[in-house]
Amino acid sequence: MADTTSSSKHPHDFDLFVIGGGSGGVRAARMAAARGARVALAESGALGGTCVNVGCIPKKLYSYAAGYAEAFEEAQGYGWKLPAAPQFDWQHLKTQRAKEIARLNAVYLNLLDGPGVRVLQGRARFAGDAHTLEVNGERYTAQQVIVATGGRPYTPEFPGRELATVSDAMFDLEPFPKRLVVVGGGYIACEFASIFKGLGSQVTQLLRRAHVLTGFDEDLRHFIADEMGKTGIDIRCNVQVSSIHRKDGELVVMLDRGQELRADAVLFATGRVPNTEDLGLAEAGIELDERGGIRVDERYRSSVPTVHALGDVSTRIQLTPVALAEAMVVVDELFPDPKRRGNPRQPPDYDFVPTAVFTHPNIATCGYTEAQARKRFGEDKVTVYCTEFKTLRHTLSGRSERTFMKLLVDDATDRVVGLHMVGADAGEIVQGFAVAMQAGATKAHFDRTVGIHPTSAEEFVTMREPSVG
Ligand code: NDP
Repeated sequence: MADTTSSSKHPHDFDLFVIGGGSGGVRAARMAAARGARVALAESGALGGTCVNVGCIPKKLYSYAAGYAEAFEEAQGYGWKLPAAPQFDWQHLKTQRAKEIARLNAVYLNLLDGPGVRVLQGRARFAGDAHTLEVNGERYTAQQVIVATGGRPYTPEFPGRELATVSDAMFDLEPFPKRLVVVGGGYIACEFASIFKGLGSQVTQLLRRAHVLTGFDEDLRHFIADEMGKTGIDIRCNVQVSSIHRKDGELVVMLDRGQELRADAVLFATGRVPNTEDLGLAEAGIELDERGGIRVDERYRSSVPTVHALGDVSTRIQLTPVALAEAMVVVDELFPDPKRRGNPRQPPDYDFVPTAVFTHPNIATCGYTEAQARKRFGEDKVTVYCTEFKTLRHTLSGRSERTFMKLLVDDATDRVVGLHMVGADAGEIVQGFAVAMQAGATKAHFDRTVGIHPTSAEEFVTMREPSVG
């Protein structure tokens, strides 16, 4: 048995053992410890998980980097003369990113150290039952366990699969890919296509179906595909990769229709799968669902009541803020906050989770798509407001980029049940509207709200005429 703090008062070494030091795991561990629980957290990689190390944070930094390409171009429309064509230094960006991520890793360690979480550097697995865990050959026991092991990229099987790259490796690619093939049409594929296009790659994006971003509003999907196409991304639909091989120092991507593409890198962004392997879950009696994630009830309890699972390892909405919200619900339940006076946090409202895709231009959305709204509230019971326009900025910038906004209103209640945007800073704009939607804002509330002029966001409160057809 490892060094413990157990005593006759404490039948287990820890009150809570968290497996995984990503967004959800760290939040759960530090909040539980701050409430006086004896907590351990095991992480085999860098603290901060996917979001900090190979996801949201470095992705957004690279998206900013890509945005300067547009800014340099636009500045000339406003009278700026650039002394020479701007040069991009990939090594510099990589070094700066690595420094910032290392800083965040240290911040995360401090967040855990502060309230006294014992951080175990290593891979944890259940050792035969739901209260015993093994890390680096040492055994620990815990009253409660939270599994927050996240997910990892999924790549389908095909000849030459080992030559494909996944999103984790994109941040440190060497050398910079002059020609990049991106396979997939989801969040990650679209974001990396936009980023590398902005940084100077020639980008070809391959979709197995007719459109990007399955699950998003149909009008938005068409609009963003056009805008991404305008930036120079070559989006090809209804096509699959049949094999990849290396020839004369370049990658040859064979497509199912017989064509071939030459590339320096091929990113497969074809979805993610939950990290549930080699955790000893079955021996501990923890059941998986049909997609290999941990099956949980509405309060994130697994089939073993003392084991909870949260974030990408258990939910369908794979977003950092969702994992954080779930972590708080679990902690409130296990270690109630006396200040909340028996009023524990409730699970987030999954129908109104706002989200952004950092394509160029950005996408952000909250609530139902038009198809979902018609299904939920009635085919003829939803009023649609839609607008698209060139922003003031682009009157002089010389860019042809357009902005798209759409509102969906449930006729029975006048509640705004869907809000979608493609345009600059869409995430920053939609976050505020998400609060209003969460509070049940109606179209009448939107209409009564005074716009901020001149902004793009004001269009959301000035749409008066429903769209026809
Ligand atoms: P997504 O599920 O969003 O997209 C997967 C894509 O891969 C789809 O376009 C899908 O096609 C395609 N695909 C799947 N299998 C194959 C195959 N065998 N051959 C060709 N194409 C295939 O997954 P991502 O990996 O992009 O992202 C995972 C999750 O991570 C997202 O759902 C999101 O929740 C989260 N995320 C959030 C971000 C943000 O908040 N900005 C950024 C990045 C990720 P089809 O549509 O036809 O099924």
